[in-house]
Amino acid sequence: MMVLSFEGSLEKLLTILEFDLSNPFKDAEKVLCIEPHPDDCVIGMGGTIKKLTERGVKVVYLCLTDGSMGTYDESVSPHELALIRRREEEKSARMLGVERIIWLDYRDTELPYNIEARNNIIKVIRQEKPDLVLAPDPWLPYEAHPDHVTAGKLALEAVLFSPLPNVARSDLHIGLEPHRIDLIGFYYTAKPNYFVDITDVMELKLRAIRVHRSQFTDDVWEKWEPFLRTVAEFYGEKIGVRYAEGLRFMPELFLHITPFAELI
Ligand SMILES: [Zn+2]
Repeated sequence: MMVLSFEGSLEKLLTILEFDLSNPFKDAEKVLCIEPHPDDCVIGMGGTIKKLTERGVKVVYLCLTDGSMGTYDESVSPHELALIRRREEEKSARMLGVERIIWLDYRDTELPYNIEARNNIIKVIRQEKPDLVLAPDPWLPYEAHPDHVTAGKLALEAVLFSPLPNVARSDLHIGLEPHRIDLIGFYYTAKPNYFVDITDVMELKLRAIRVHRSQFTDDVWEKWEPFLRTVAEFYGEKIGVRYAEGLRFMPELFLHITPFAELI
């Protein structure tokens, strides 16, 4: 009797799931990029976003917090900083061709891991009906910022639950229908399984990051520019290009009770 190997079965399963890592953005017309703070999307995947919007893919940001804690300057109040960061993010997003930004305005450093926050993300998914959701990988080793870990987990849970009509059922009463997303992508990941060559847009990406002047003062930028180039080279080396962004795509089915989810 022929025994099917796990590898063979997995390959077959991925075919059935239409999980194709050769181009996960292939059929995407609209992508929802979830960020904990108003600069994470551009830092994590600004090059990828630029390339998507150039092809006509609609990109919408969902920013979870107001960024009001991101300063060493005692003279700037949280409220002032939140306003400054909103303007910076709008300018930066325009440079990448992002259609619009949705703000949930949780207080920076205090993004709650609770059902209300998750349901707020579910509501946005049901409103926007994206083909793909991208969020920070909550399992990035040594990630110390709680907003990043929480944002990744909330985003995953929202993708898992947005197709279930009984979850946040009140959405039905305001005309929002359950929405299924078969594929989720992570940025800020140490386990990338898809790479985007961003060599030709790297300088634009850096300019779009630098627009966040409240975050990247001259002395900060002295360290951050080489840091960002090193990150892009880390991913780039894996596919033999100068600069790349690394993402991790997972089928929705593997976000639950799957012992081999790490292997893809
Ligand atoms: Zn952040």
